[in-house]
Amino acid sequence: MNKTICVFCGSKDGDNLNIIAKAADLGRALAEEGFSIVFGGGRLGLMGSVARAAFESNGRVIGIIPTGLTSREPVQLELTELFVVDDIIERKRLMIEKSDAFLILPGGLGTLDELFEVWTGRQVKAHNKPIIIGNWDGYYDKLLSFLDQANHQGFLNSDHLDGVAILKSVEEIIDALKTTFVSTHSR
Ligand code: AMP
Repeated sequence: MNKTICVFCGSKDGDNLNIIAKAADLGRALAEEGFSIVFGGGRLGLMGSVARAAFESNGRVIGIIPTGLTSREPVQLELTELFVVDDIIERKRLMIEKSDAFLILPGGLGTLDELFEVWTGRQVKAHNKPIIIGNWDGYYDKLLSFLDQANHQGFLNSDHLDGVAILKSVEEIIDALKTTFVSTHSR
């Protein structure tokens, strides 16, 4: 499928071997289904695993990295394209512009920042692209229950989950992407 998925996830691997294995499975599956990937351009962590697996499965992989990070962090070299931008704000802007959907996998502060950037962007209608949260091994359970609490206390719009899918497996993610784009095409 000729669509580009922006993958946000950890620049670290984390401790959960299941999650590490799923990151590579996902990269492979996206490539096999013909999806292109846009990601942060780094070689380390889950993000490196997703990108490497996709590239090795002949997927199209686009990295976008700020100059500051290229000097401090290893860049993923096996890429279809690499954009080096001035800063992380420009990076986020370009990642959002170049993709058709956002996929958020387990990660740290950078990933959370990116999740909320695209989520608030959707809420204020800056874009209308689907957001998928890969809640692998319940990684995001506590964040999601905090958001439930925020909702119950009246701080969220009741439609805050519109366009956001919370999924547990690689298969569910791939199916959701295929269904989303098939139904967008046939409209
Ligand atoms: P974190 O979750 O804090 O590990 O940050 C990972 C997310 O932030 C990724 O989705 C990237 O887009 C971005 N990011 C953070 N650190 C790096 C890095 N060293 N190289 C490339 N992207 C990074």
